[in-house]
Amino acid sequence: HQWDVTDNLSVQNLGASYGEAIDLDAIRNLDFNWQGYGKIGVVGRSGSGKSTLIKVLGGFLNPTPESHIEINHQELSTLKQREWQQQMFYIPQDPYVFHASFKENVAFYVPDASEEAILSAIAQAGLTDLLTELPEGLATIIGEGGQTLSGGQMQRVALARAFLDHSRKVLLFDEPTAHLDIETEAELKETMLPLFEEKLVIFATHRLHWMKEMDYILVMDEGQIVEQGTYQEL
Ligand code: ATP
Ligand code: MG
Repeated sequence: HQWDVTDNLSVQNLGASYGEAIDLDAIRNLDFNWQGYGKIGVVGRSGSGKSTLIKVLGGFLNPTPESHIEINHQELSTLKQREWQQQMFYIPQDPYVFHASFKENVAFYVPDASEEAILSAIAQAGLTDLLTELPEGLATIIGEGGQTLSGGQMQRVALARAFLDHSRKVLLFDEPTAHLDIETEAELKETMLPLFEEKLVIFATHRLHWMKEMDYILVMDEGQIVEQGTYQEL
């Protein structure tokens, strides 16, 4: 199954912490619901809990026992982990690039992709210039011990993976443009917005200009949602 217009996400009393020794949970008492496709923006100051929320939704960090994350009224924790993981595409705040060729890195989730599709994803992610500079093009080894990429380039490799993989309908993006300059980001916005269509997108960002594009916004502060609603409402 892939996420579609009939699917429902319900988050109730969601909390999470990074260790029992820490007094205050990193996120607490989060409540929100969403039905079907749409773009949910998550904003808030540094340390407000945006990444923690995305990690918990992705299943990479356990919520506190009193939390509920329900997909179609079924607890996420009781769903088959693979079922959810196969629907979702997670871009962490600092994405990982493997010690492998540039091509293998981009095609990580779609290893049988055609070269044409890979080049198109690279172009959509704004990496064509980098590709022409790489000594061995697509075959250049990147990652540890290989050609070094900047933080922004690594983020764009992660985005290229998302552009190549059309199958997953839930995008969990954690500041995928944070390391990019305003101009590069503006170019990428043009290609990212079409990618967001007919998907459930949960998108954490510092950059407020994205909020105009979002269908719903969660404003976080000190681990809690302090406001939520549409751009017009807030
Ligand atoms: P930023 O905008 O800087 O990315 P954020 O809104 O994503 O911030 P989180 O990374 O979710 O914020 O952090 C929320 C809280 O959890 C902060 O108090 C932070 O110190 C704490 N925290 C985050 N990651 C860890 C970790 N790996 N171990 C311990 N505490 C953490
Ligand atoms: Mg973060």
